[in-house]
Amino acid sequence: MATVEHEQVEAEQAPSNLIEVENPGTGEIIATVPELDAAAVAELAARGRSAQPHWESYGFQGRARVMLRAQKWVMDNAERITKTIVSETGKTWEDAQLAEIGYAGNAFGFWAKEAEGFLADEKVRSSQVLVLGKKLLLRHRPLGLIGVIGPWNYPFTNSVGDCIPAMMAGNSVILKPSEITPLTSMLLAEGLRECGLPENVLQIATGRGATGAALIEHVDMIMFTGSTKTGRKVAEAAARRLIPASLELGGKDPMIVLADADVERAANFATYYSMQNAGQTCISIERVYVEAPVYDEFVAKVSEKVRELRVGRPEGPGSVEVGAITFPPQMETIKDHVADAVQKGARVLAGGNQTPGAGRFFEPTVLVDVDHTMKCMTEETFGPTLPIMKVGDADEAVRLANDSVYGLGASVFSKDTERGEAVARRLQSGAANVNDAMINYTVLELPMGGAKSSGLGSRHGAGGIRKYCSQQAIVVTPKLAMKKEIFMYPYKSRTSKMLAGLFKVMYGRGKRA
Ligand code: NAD
Repeated sequence: MATVEHEQVEAEQAPSNLIEVENPGTGEIIATVPELDAAAVAELAARGRSAQPHWESYGFQGRARVMLRAQKWVMDNAERITKTIVSETGKTWEDAQLAEIGYAGNAFGFWAKEAEGFLADEKVRSSQVLVLGKKLLLRHRPLGLIGVIGPWNYPFTNSVGDCIPAMMAGNSVILKPSEITPLTSMLLAEGLRECGLPENVLQIATGRGATGAALIEHVDMIMFTGSTKTGRKVAEAAARRLIPASLELGGKDPMIVLADADVERAANFATYYSMQNAGQTCISIERVYVEAPVYDEFVAKVSEKVRELRVGRPEGPGSVEVGAITFPPQMETIKDHVADAVQKGARVLAGGNQTPGAGRFFEPTVLVDVDHTMKCMTEETFGPTLPIMKVGDADEAVRLANDSVYGLGASVFSKDTERGEAVARRLQSGAANVNDAMINYTVLELPMGGAKSSGLGSRHGAGGIRKYCSQQAIVVTPKLAMKKEIFMYPYKSRTSKMLAGLFKVMYGRGKRA
């Protein structure tokens, strides 16, 4: 059994290669995990397939019992899981606690409780006269074997989190966590086994991109979270196999501050939701548009708040506000976006540099005098940076907010909530919060997904579990039925005329346009 306690993590398969896992807060190598090759992935797939029917036979109640035990297990082991997340991401204790442990607790309970209702047979009524008296049902049945591929920024929420509804639907799952952060997934798989999840219902395929690509060749559906660039490759591979793909991709979330906003609240939210998780959240606030009358006040408040943030190695609860940059190449992107902005005329009001010393950290940064010729306003930065732009009015803010290939989240601040909602409705994004940001993600009853190049499909809500199922239409004719229907052979002119009359009565009463 794989365990993350050891310096060297045991392989589920004979390793063809090993991947070193680094603590980005210290630079130390904390574990090595195997890189599974295509043959090893095929073996996991065969095991997952043979485990699935038994798991499906548990029924919703049986599966819910395992998930509720897992919910308790997460709470009992919260400190151990948090430490694992912090060690492989370098994020702060609080970022792990709120957005991963808190999410885990909510998600295990939510899917345990709601899955049956979301997937219950639906009785359908039809206006079609030929099925009068027949039983019509829409049924959702598990697809079989689901592949989940995750990114490094939320090792629980965006990897294990997406496995929960897949398993509750009765599927077995192979999760390919990011090669940067595989330890949390391995720990959770161990925990789920302790909670009574049958062997091979959730298997972890550690590895890099090639392992992910191999996984797509074996599963019945792929749930992918990661960059838009990789998402396209995943979509192409899924299309070749004609399997469904659900894609949660990158973002460049705008925030709009209208002149009638509560500027103090807007400044607090801009600061928190741009710097939380060191800006490495798909739905981080990545750019702000502020109406001219409150621009100076907003910039002054945000700059002051950002300058007060402590950045560095997380030593436990309450030690720092901004943690590490998890993925080494991300540091180059952040530096490039800041340098590009400065070179084109932006001013840095806070931060602006990588911090010296051990670990990988970037100072919380505020940029002004920015525009859409700059990468910091158009490309995903995924770091602790906040570019702020002055706009003439709400129309300009909406135009600029929509001037993006992305469309994940967005937020609008205004004390006039009707006006705020009207502006939110004009934004081309999968979610829009008024006087808030990012909070929609925590509402598991609402769908979470991206518009434009931010993705296809969504997680959460009824659609977030139905996507792991195929639909089956069931039509049952009662036993006391006629020996044959009137439209059957032999064709007779009298019957055809009667049917023509019937169609006219049924469909011919509308007005011509
Ligand atoms: P990435 O695309 O580089 O990698 C994601 C995963 O895909 C990794 O596990 C990687 O090993 C795997 N992979 C790489 N090549 C593959 C291939 N050819 N076939 C199959 N799998 C392959 O993304 P990342 O850098 O790990 O994550 C950061 C990105 O994720 C950001 O763009 C962020 O916005 C996005 N993200 C989106 C959401 C969301 O819900 N929309 C949530 C979190 C992160």
